[in-house]
Amino acid sequence: MARETKLKVRLLKHTQDPERVCAEAAKLCYNPIGVDELGGKLSDEEVQKSLRHIMKMGHYSVIEHAVFTFAIEGVSRACTHELVRHRIASYSQQSQRHVSEAGFNFIEPQTIKDKPELSKRFQSFMDASQSLYSELCAAGVPKEDARFILPNACETRIIVTMNARALLNFFELRCCASAQWEIRALANEMLKLAKQAAPTIFENAGPACVSRRVCTEGKRSCGRWRSIPGAILRE
Ligand SMILES: Cc1cc2nc3c(=O)[nH]c(=O)nc-3n(C[C@H](O)[C@H](O)[C@H](O)COP(=O)(O)OP(=O)(O)OC[C@H]3O[C@@H](n4cnc5c(N)ncnc54)[C@H](O)[C@@H]3O)c2cc1C
Repeated sequence: MARETKLKVRLLKHTQDPERVCAEAAKLCYNPIGVDELGGKLSDEEVQKSLRHIMKMGHYSVIEHAVFTFAIEGVSRACTHELVRHRIASYSQQSQRHVSEAGFNFIEPQTIKDKPELSKRFQSFMDASQSLYSELCAAGVPKEDARFILPNACETRIIVTMNARALLNFFELRCCASAQWEIRALANEMLKLAKQAAPTIFENAGPACVSRRVCTEGKRSCGRWRSIPGAILRE
């Protein structure tokens, strides 16, 4: 029987001392120094000050030196289809050509759970998909073809590596209330972890109303911008 599963995100690795590396890069840009004068000489306060300054100026290429690798499970194929549209990233996703989906888990949206009769049929559909998949495999159909009957709800696992600049863009688009709920939940988890690793770089990260004090959703705006000092709505 197919089972429901839940989102799990781990920050597997990130650039060592991510904020210091970026501040050193900024230091090299704006001072007549050589490589021997870099490394370990900036205080924590100087690192913070430098990062805030370069980000305020819009010199975002400097924060591309900080790279973060997340391991993700408990998301649907529908969700990762949206995730992989973010091109400034590297991905490794569990293969449906090589890994059997005979015991696949699934993600069930709350809007379906809220309708118990339809939710039962959803579960039956998952079970039916699983048993037909197994039947096809048992009949000698290769996994790469049997997977054609798998649903979008099917759980997948993926590793994603993004630099801090790409992450800021990802958070702006996907932490927004207009983003689809599953990728929004994923983006919010990733943001929490990124903030722990690089609190200054990500201190203002989030949807555009938070990061840039501008809501670009016009009539579709959720209205959150109203609670953010200085934020405006762009129609
Ligand atoms: C609410 C919402 C609804 C969406 N709906 C749809 C939809 O209906 N259909 C659909 O197809 N997609 C949809 N998308 C996906 C969207 O179009 C983007 O593909 C996705 O959000 C990735 O964003 P990105 O290009 O900024 O990110 P990345 O690919 O990571 O790129 C980051 C930045 O790099 C720059 N960049 C990257 N590649 C290029 C390039 N080739 N040329 C110039 N600059 C580049 C851009 O500045 C870009 O913002 C939706 C996204 C959101 C958030």
